[in-house]
Amino acid sequence: MDYNVPLSPEGAVTDSIRVDSTLPTLNHLREAGARIILVSHLGRPKGTPDPRYSLAPVAQLLSRRLGADVPLLADPPGSDALMERVEAMEDGEVVLLENIRFLSGETENDPELGEALGRLGEVFLGDAFGAAHRAHASNVGAARAIRDRGGPAVAGFLMERELRFLREAVRDPARPFVAVLGGAKISGKIDVIEALLPQVDRLIVGGAMANTFFRALGLSTGASLVEEDRVAMAGELLERAGEKLLLPVDCVVATTLDAAADSRTVSRDGVGEGERIGDIGATSQELFSREVRGARTCLWNGPMGVFELAPFAEGTFAVARALAEATDAGAISVVGGGDSAAAAVAADVAERLTHISTGGGASLELLAGASLPGVDVLDQLGDEGGNE
Ligand code: ADP
Ligand code: MG
Repeated sequence: MDYNVPLSPEGAVTDSIRVDSTLPTLNHLREAGARIILVSHLGRPKGTPDPRYSLAPVAQLLSRRLGADVPLLADPPGSDALMERVEAMEDGEVVLLENIRFLSGETENDPELGEALGRLGEVFLGDAFGAAHRAHASNVGAARAIRDRGGPAVAGFLMERELRFLREAVRDPARPFVAVLGGAKISGKIDVIEALLPQVDRLIVGGAMANTFFRALGLSTGASLVEEDRVAMAGELLERAGEKLLLPVDCVVATTLDAAADSRTVSRDGVGEGERIGDIGATSQELFSREVRGARTCLWNGPMGVFELAPFAEGTFAVARALAEATDAGAISVVGGGDSAAAAVAADVAERLTHISTGGGASLELLAGASLPGVDVLDQLGDEGGNE
């Protein structure tokens, strides 16, 4: 499982989507009488126990959600104590192992740890989509160990759902297929742009990402966030994309990007020397929203502006609302990226969208066409399995 959830300073789970998304899998398994040993990481402890990253809050949340006690087991895989506890489990019982990254073998995909995990069960079930772009002991190592003994390695319902919407919907979309990209940087998303460009009918670019394209158009961007070393590449993409690529025509600017900023809207060629672009302008909002509302498939990754700050939130919220309207009218909407998911919640449209991915990095890699080690290791699902 990917129970890498955000915690408050007091240690409470502040966003439970990653836990709640696995409940269909857990309920199904429990009804079938399975004995379930959950493995997950949380945060980035350095291969040694660190109470700040204990999965105890997740065990409590799971207990509440399942209406059954889910004990947190601190004994490590490979220990006799854990093996004895697991052998004493009852049908339908659920236990959660302590943060697997308390062990250094996890991120190194140490074969010994993979073996020790694999010995705990007869079936491997992978539902940790958010960790599937990494080959670690708890996904790849444990799945291999179980497969080597002839046991199945299958995808959970969440994994299946993520792949359906982020891989299949993009490969064979209902058209028009519109992608909306934004966020802070182009650099982390170049491969996604490259992979989507031939597939989409429209590629909408907003956020700070658009600034770099503005520069490629010869516009001045004042003090805005620009990736200087990507301007040439942005120019090349503009040429290749032609009319498919849609950029903002106006922007909300201010001399500082903060909650009390005194902002104004300018045409994209009217950004002053000391000004920073914080959001798309009202005309761009309308332009983008119209495109999104006309889509049959719409993929959204990356906010249109600094939506965390009220003066620069409206562009992102307008696009989020348009996405919900398109979905109400029958379109498939898919949101990737942690900040975009948070923006959908802040815009109060999350429930109306088709699918909000639980994986940030994994969803980007999948959209870029990469294969994920945590998926490839599963029976039938991987690109290598040839059983699409
Ligand atoms: P996601 O997590 O959805 O993939 P990113 O992490 O790529 O999105 O980008 C999100 C961040 O981009 C947000 O914190 C937002 O404030 C920032 N951002 C968006 N537009 C701008 C802008 N014009 N200037 C500075 N930062 C921006
Ligand atoms: Mg992000």
